[in-house]
Order: sequence, then structure tokens, then C-alpha cells
Amino acid sequence: MTVSDQVKALIHNQSFVNGEWVNALSGKTFSVINPANNELITEVPEQTQEDTSAAIAAAEAALPAWKELTAKSRSLILKRWAQLVNENLEALATILTLEQGKALVESRAEVASSANYIEWFANEAIRINGDTLPRSANGNFEYMQKLPIGVVAAITPWNFPNSMIARKVAPALAAGCTVVIKPAEDTPLSALALTHLAADAGVPAGVINVITASTGAEVGLELCKNPTVKKLSFTGSTAVGKILLEQCASTVKKLSLELGGNAPFIVFEDADLDAAVQGAIAIKFYNSGQTCICANRLLVQESIHDEFLEKYNAAINQMVQGHGLEEGVSHGPLINEKAITKVQSLVEATIKQGATVYRGGKVLPELGSNFFQFTILSDLAKDMDIFSSEIFGPVAAVYKFRDESEAVAMANDTPYGLASYLYTKDTGRIFRVSEALEYGMVGVNTPKFVSETVPFGGVKESGIGREGSVHGIDEFLEMHYVCISA
Ligand code: ADP
Repeated sequence: MTVSDQVKALIHNQSFVNGEWVNALSGKTFSVINPANNELITEVPEQTQEDTSAAIAAAEAALPAWKELTAKSRSLILKRWAQLVNENLEALATILTLEQGKALVESRAEVASSANYIEWFANEAIRINGDTLPRSANGNFEYMQKLPIGVVAAITPWNFPNSMIARKVAPALAAGCTVVIKPAEDTPLSALALTHLAADAGVPAGVINVITASTGAEVGLELCKNPTVKKLSFTGSTAVGKILLEQCASTVKKLSLELGGNAPFIVFEDADLDAAVQGAIAIKFYNSGQTCICANRLLVQESIHDEFLEKYNAAINQMVQGHGLEEGVSHGPLINEKAITKVQSLVEATIKQGATVYRGGKVLPELGSNFFQFTILSDLAKDMDIFSSEIFGPVAAVYKFRDESEAVAMANDTPYGLASYLYTKDTGRIFRVSEALEYGMVGVNTPKFVSETVPFGGVKESGIGREGSVHGIDEFLEMHYVCISA
């Protein structure tokens, strides 16, 4: 099969429930749009509460047989899934770029990371061990098993529409759970394509179900309130995460929340400046600035501030915005008009509050309506709105600091605590500052550290729980203690 045949075979205009490709019970659909040119890619079902409860019932019905399989059987199915993802990597990357906009090179890396997550959790599936315990009374035999929590709901965002599915579904399946996925409305096609490959790999009917809808609220409410669902794993905004946390209270569901960030990127005067510049390029403009671990605040020591800005600006000149499928393009559009409006109004408000526009600052209509210029804003201060806003666009916000204690205080002056970065050659400072940063993850002299081996997650209002690593599977397991008096 050619890549374009694979793309055609993997783009679905139906959702997937109980092993079948289905329409919405209402018969309604909504459009999936290419953000680079606003062209229609396809329509998908507009599903509601009724469709969702049917999918939950399918996941419940599939649970007993799936969890009864041996760990090795589940592991082999997941390995086959990972293999199919790799074999279809180019097609999945193309679908990802079509619906999300990111440059093909980033899409390929994302799909490869999905295969890595699936393979990783295939290997974790066979290592779900419990404990035998010391007896707490004479004649007792006591042990703890780790059992699958049950039916899992996964609500995923549009910025990593492929890997966020893999990072949630693979550990859930490895643990013996069944899943109902609600992918983001902008990007349902990657989820459907991955599900197609999972079914081809031998995942039985009902074990993975996908519900598509143009808004999250109705489907989300059912996923939260339905008592059959025992766990909700969500990646998205802090605002929606707080709604889900409240909605899950009535059924006391276990939750994993990967929410917003406000990552500081601290450059000390003793840093390797060129490495810091390259790092700040990579992690600020990754996915055109639309990730929760993007460098949201560049904190630069005052003695090197001007030189940093010059070099940073020069490095930006090497980047190319455009349609993600075009050769040579390094950065795609923002996801939709709402995103453009949000970035534009934040930039305008920051300028009004006294920022200097070092470069950019405007939309780029000549490329399409969803492109925003690479922008640097400098002369920023803590009391400006941008200091506490998640930018989610190609806008670098640069702040000056005097010394280490001011840098740490500025970095921690936020309710968020996901990713943070620091560049320095001073060994003592590396340890001191890394520990002082109130963040789930710290990159020292490196901008990119996320992989399947990493416990990804945040503290404070950035979330609850970890995904990936040897700990990721525990989010889908319950400890089950047994005491035998014999
Ligand atoms: P973003 O602001 O990045 O679009 P959101 O948090 O709005 O992030 O969206 C992330 C996911 O949450 C998407 O799948 C979206 O449909 C879903 N979502 C949005 N609002 C709700 C809600 N009230 N309940 C459940 N899911 C929701």
C-alpha cells in the first residue's frame, strides 16, 4: 500500500463503539477542518450522552474477558499494535498534520513516540506484581494484588492528538482495563486511526471505544457521572480539569489530570549561551508554542539579557512557517481562529501594559487565517497579565532577573507546576535550583526530555498523577489486599 492509500484507509468518518464503525444515534455530524487552509477534511459523528452511555456499556461488557487474559496475551496484542503504528507511521503523521497543522517532522516524532508508549506498556503489562505481606496476626496469610480498576474514560486534547491517546490507552489496556475515549473536537481523526490499528492488532470489540463530539461538555458529564466508569484520565486546560474534578466527586472516581503549565526557562549568566538559545527555540516554538510544557516565561539574567535577545532573534530567522505538509516548513498554524484571537489579544494587552515588541506581534494573513508571526516581547514585568497567562502560541515572553533567588522566586510565582528549565554550568546551582523549582519536571541544560520512560506530570494546579514510566500503569490499577486466616 502507498502512503496515500494508507491515509485513505485510516481516515474514518464514523466513530468506533463495541468493535463497529458507527454513526451518531442522532444521525448528526460535525466538520473536521485543516487549520492550515480551513478546508474540510471530513465529517464525524456528533455524539451525545446516549451514545456515550452505550459506549460505556460496551466497555463494561468487554471488561471480564479482557482482564481475564494472561498478562502475556495482552502484552502481545499491544506489541502488535505498536508494530502497526510504526508500519503506518507516515500515514498517521500525515493525518496528524492534516487535522492539527504541525510540521510533518513533528508529527512523525509524535507518532513514533506513540509506538514507544505502546511498546513500553506492553512490557509493563507482564510486570504487574503485588506483594506478600508479613502476617499481622498468628495464622494469617496476607497478600496484595494489583487489579485493573475497570472501565476507564480518556478525554484528550488537540495539541498531541496521537500520543495522548497512546499514553493513556496503552497503560489502561496493559493493566486489563477497557476504555472509552473522547478525543478533542478539532482532532478526532488521529484517535480513530489509532483505534483502527488497535482493532487490526487484535484488541477485542468493546475494549477500545471512541466517542466524537463537537463540544466536550455533554459527553464529559456522562463520563464523569456514570458509575460504571471507575477512572477518568484527562489532558487539557486547568479550567476544564477543575470542572471534571467536581463532576467526578459524585462517584468518587479516581482521576489523572494533566493540566496547564506556565513553564519558566531560566538562563543564568554562566550558561552556555548558544545552547540556551537553541533550547529556548526548541521548547518555546515546539508545536508553534501550543504545548503545556512550552517555555512560557524566558527568565534571563540581566548581564546577558541583550546578547541573549540578539542571538534568539537570529535563531528565529532560521524557522519557516507554513503548511505542515510542505517541504522545508518547520512550524505550522495555530489550531483555530479562537486560538489566534486569544494570542492576538494577549499580545495587544501586553503591549498596552508597556512591553517592547522585539519582533513580530501580528497575525500573518498571507499564509492563512490561523498563522501568527514568530514574536518576541521584552521589557516584561511580573505584574503584566502575560506573566500568569498560558500563551499557547509562537510568542516568546522575555523577563530579566538579577540573581538566583530572584529567578527562583519568579519561577515559582504561579499556581502552575508542570515543566521548568534552567541553563547553567554551575554544579551547585544545578542541584539547588532544580530542587527549589516547584514543578513536576525540571530540564537542566536540555529543553526536551519527554519520553515513555519519564513520569510526566505536574504539581499544584498543573495536575494529579503521572503518565509514562514504570509508575504510569499504577494509575489504572487498584491495590487489592487479601487476609486469609487458615
Ligand atoms: P484547550 O483549551 O486546550 O482546547 P480543553 O480543556 O478545552 O483544552 O479541551 C481538552 C479536552 O477537553 C477536549 O477533548 C475537549 O473537548 C474536552 N472538554 C472541554 N470542555 C469539557 C467539559 N466541560 N467536560 C468534558 N470535557 C471537556
